[in-house]
Amino acid sequence: MKTSRLLSLSAITLSVLLFTNCQTEDESVSTEINQESSKSEASAEVYPLTGNEKIVTKMFFGEETEFNQVDNNLILGDMILSPEQVEETNILEKGVIRRNRHWPKSGSYYYIPYTVDSNLPNKGRVTSAINHWESKTKIRFIKRTNQRAYIRFRSGSGCSSSVGRTGGRQNITLASGCSTGNTIHEIGHAIGMYHEQQHPKRDNYVTVNFNNIKSGKASNFNKRSSSSVRTSTFDIGSIMMYGSYFFSKNGKPTIVRKNGSTFNVQRRALSSGDLSVIRRYYN
Ligand SMILES: [Zn+2]
Repeated sequence: MKTSRLLSLSAITLSVLLFTNCQTEDESVSTEINQESSKSEASAEVYPLTGNEKIVTKMFFGEETEFNQVDNNLILGDMILSPEQVEETNILEKGVIRRNRHWPKSGSYYYIPYTVDSNLPNKGRVTSAINHWESKTKIRFIKRTNQRAYIRFRSGSGCSSSVGRTGGRQNITLASGCSTGNTIHEIGHAIGMYHEQQHPKRDNYVTVNFNNIKSGKASNFNKRSSSSVRTSTFDIGSIMMYGSYFFSKNGKPTIVRKNGSTFNVQRRALSSGDLSVIRRYYN
């Protein structure tokens, strides 16, 4: 928070610093695994969590899951869900979200109305993320006029989003450290995607080291029940996949490949696996 207040002192300094920050983040993907992962982890949660939020345990995709409850929202990592939505996941027969949480189709395309707060720094992240989604999928973003359901891109702490269409205004919150890739990831949540490390078949491809996960964060690594298969194939390169060091309490990896090796988090583009899932629901 102190940093962002400092930054707001000078718009020029702000844009220069943000540019530098994005550059650093991109370059670090291939060079500094630990550093990159910890940065991405900072973007993997809704902030500010004070630790005083009520912790509630709910069944989520058939698994006991700890959520932070803030007002009437249930928060898991960077995902914001309603109690009804969490309940729904236990009765899904297939698919990531219920049809009524999909964005509506008109003609060949699915349209998502949106607004961007005037004080959101580096609005180019939103433009680039939207361009990416529109170039790869049948989802189109339109400036909101009077639609009841829409996405509002706003500044705030951390990067976060609701999951699926809520039916009213729903926020995608982007701190200054959230990259274009993070924005693509958060839009993924807003159209109804969950995290890939919770894929029902993930244990065939990766090992989750629960002993290395921070206290209270293990629920982010729960498997979804097999009835909620998001895609036929687990995709370690999904933009919805956590990195090897997410929520590590001791600097050791929380997720490794079956051969024990770590991997870089992918926050550049929708993967082919992501696209096949999206096509199932927005085709
Ligand atoms: Zn996420």
